[in-house]
Amino acid sequence: MTRLAARRSLLAAVLGVSWQQRLLGHHVVPAAWRRQCFSAGSKAEDSAQVTPLLKHLMFKIKSTGPITVAEYMREVLTNPVKGYYMHHDMLGERGDFVTSPEISQIFGELIGIWYVSEWMATGKPKTLQLVELGPGRGTLTDDILRVFNQLGSLLNKCDISVHLVEVSPKLSEIQALTLTGGKIESELDVTSPVYMKGISKAGIPIFWYQELQDVPQGTSFYLAHEFFDALPIHKFQRTEQGWREVLIDIDPKAPDQLRFVLAPSATPATEYFIQDKEERDHVEVCPDAGILIQRLACRIQEDGGAALIADYGHNGNKTDTFRSFRSHQLHDALIAPGTADLTADVDFSYLRTMTQGRVATLGPLKQQEFLKNMGIDVRLQVLLQNSSDTAMHKHLLQGYDMLMNPKKMGDRFHFFALLPHQRLAHSDQKVNLQHSKSLSAPVAGFGELIWK
Ligand code: SAH
Repeated sequence: MTRLAARRSLLAAVLGVSWQQRLLGHHVVPAAWRRQCFSAGSKAEDSAQVTPLLKHLMFKIKSTGPITVAEYMREVLTNPVKGYYMHHDMLGERGDFVTSPEISQIFGELIGIWYVSEWMATGKPKTLQLVELGPGRGTLTDDILRVFNQLGSLLNKCDISVHLVEVSPKLSEIQALTLTGGKIESELDVTSPVYMKGISKAGIPIFWYQELQDVPQGTSFYLAHEFFDALPIHKFQRTEQGWREVLIDIDPKAPDQLRFVLAPSATPATEYFIQDKEERDHVEVCPDAGILIQRLACRIQEDGGAALIADYGHNGNKTDTFRSFRSHQLHDALIAPGTADLTADVDFSYLRTMTQGRVATLGPLKQQEFLKNMGIDVRLQVLLQNSSDTAMHKHLLQGYDMLMNPKKMGDRFHFFALLPHQRLAHSDQKVNLQHSKSLSAPVAGFGELIWK
């Protein structure tokens, strides 16, 4: 057998088994996902919508003055009482946007294989904590756990646990249903940061936390899919007088509406966040993402493991990406706050800088390249062969197109990984490479998957 054929047969062994297919039904391929566009400027027609959050924010602005975009985003998305993420399910066809794991089971399966591959490459540690940040409906972790179950003969001596970082009571309820069938423990130790726990369908313990700091240290494999884009950003505009932060104020012409304004003078934030060599005229900075990436980098440096971050984003070259979605349509970000999603592209170059060299980084690599390297074509063929149902065939093909088509999610979404330096030490490649083409590092996804 040639080397290539041997590699293919190993891939087929991993990807080709007749794993259960997710049932058709709620995984309908919807028409839209969160796209690139601009938020400011357009006045929406439904300006009469005075939501409780709008009232709360107006009260705040009246008492202490205009607020930053970061404060606006934090309040609108995660205010415990009325925040957008807190009390409803916004994912899927009937929600506001759709994500890759909801589109096709293949996505989560390939990510599951990535974790097993990295776990093997780091010497098969005896414990494996899978830590997902912002798990949505729990679909991605569910697909990953199905792969772990399927590869039980490899993982049977490994002590696996799942740790979910989720602020939303509603979404954690849905995650519990997806992952445990609803079997959760309610009587918890009040001194523990675990706010819910349960056992997966295959017997793996699952724990829920509010914050990453609450997750126990130990060899951990982190996952953040469409999570960083939800973290609050500060916005800055270059003016003739220098950099000014963009703030949100009450519109004097329409007292029930908000508007963007510029801070009258430079603030500590402008001094601190804008680099001297900055060439753009408009910049978005997400300090929360910087802090989080530092925490992940410290943990991986100390305990090993890896982090896989997938999101739409750029390498420090985009400007105004802050936008809002409702019912799969663009929405004015300042209208009816709390009823629509707010998001901004992730600046991967900022994330890379904020690791402060503690770990090696790979990517950002386009989703279509990552999934191709992970063997999406083989997996698609196997699923098509295993089903004679034409509706299932259509669903699989549509899902593949949505994930891979460069005009859809294929080029917009990127994969970015944090790995311990020693993971790449034997490779003759330099770390921190930005583009896969120059990289043949033995890290699945960022190079071809080789199953040893
Ligand atoms: N990863 C999922 C869901 C993406 S939506 C998917 O791809 O389908 C963003 C997720 O992050 C939601 O689960 C939301 O409740 C959660 N989230 C948003 N801000 C958060 C924060 N500050 N801390 C923890 N979870 C957060």
